[in-house]
Amino acid sequence: MPAQLIDGIALSQKLRAEIAARAAALTALGKQPGLAVIIVGDDPASHVYVRNKVKGCEDAGFYSLKEQYPADLSEAALLERIAALNADPAIHGILVQMPLPKHIDPHKVIEAISTKKDVDGYSVLSAGELMAGLDGFRPCTPYGCMKLIESTGVDLRGKHAVVIGRSNTVGKPMALLLLQANATVTICHSATPDLGLYTRQADIVVAATGRRNTLTADMVKPGAIVIDVGINRDEAGKLCGDVDFAGIKEVASHITPVPGGVGPMTITMLLMNTVEAAERT
Ligand code: NDP
Repeated sequence: MPAQLIDGIALSQKLRAEIAARAAALTALGKQPGLAVIIVGDDPASHVYVRNKVKGCEDAGFYSLKEQYPADLSEAALLERIAALNADPAIHGILVQMPLPKHIDPHKVIEAISTKKDVDGYSVLSAGELMAGLDGFRPCTPYGCMKLIESTGVDLRGKHAVVIGRSNTVGKPMALLLLQANATVTICHSATPDLGLYTRQADIVVAATGRRNTLTADMVKPGAIVIDVGINRDEAGKLCGDVDFAGIKEVASHITPVPGGVGPMTITMLLMNTVEAAERT
């Protein structure tokens, strides 16, 4: 029987309705959730991402502040703006769209954002909170993957989860979230010699490599749940993920499509973190 699709669009819609209801309750108390998005320079893809984030905020009833600066903005000026937003009570979340122009140190910028407003969850302190199992903001993409996995109804306790990829924004936090949910976790990466050896033992595989066909049907245990984070293009220019969707859907129990799986969840979890930040103030 072919795998069941995990529909990221439908789950996003459901969660966004819940977020909008929470936002409305806060607004009624005079505490409308506010997200500030800063974009520096004119990278076209970044502008599309920012537009989608701003629209997501508006649809959820948030106050949305978009600050757009030319590519020659100085690092000092950007840090000054972040300090002002840290102090602004109307703003509960601050996001600086990456990548930044080369003369600006992204680490300095991320660390300048107050941990209370770090709704991207990228700062060292937020990463430490996740590591230590403390309340904090989880990076949006792995947080969204957890919601997709939960939506299958699986109990992760005692299950073996394999994460392919170890970036700070996806792979590592993904592994920690799975560990927190009591899965037994293996992390694989480009220096893993025989990927299939690990993935064939997995009840859940999360692929986050940015390489097409990292995972093929022969590498998947029958009945496994497969979450595909990757965003790639095939020879025809069509959007595809990291896994061989056509082959794996004949073996897995559940699989996320690309597009329509993990992608829509990322902004949803940004909104979730922002409403949470407002509730905590
Ligand atoms: P990075 O390039 O930062 O990390 C990729 C990871 O994959 C690295 O840890 C790398 O290993 C590992 N890797 C690369 N090739 C292989 C291989 N052949 N076998 C095993 N491991 C491998 O990417 P990100 O984590 O930022 O993103 C991963 C993918 O997810 C990208 O396609 C990105 O576009 C997508 N993405 C999608 C999002 C969404 O909203 N849907 C959001 C964020 C990312 P090593 O560390 O050894 O180099």
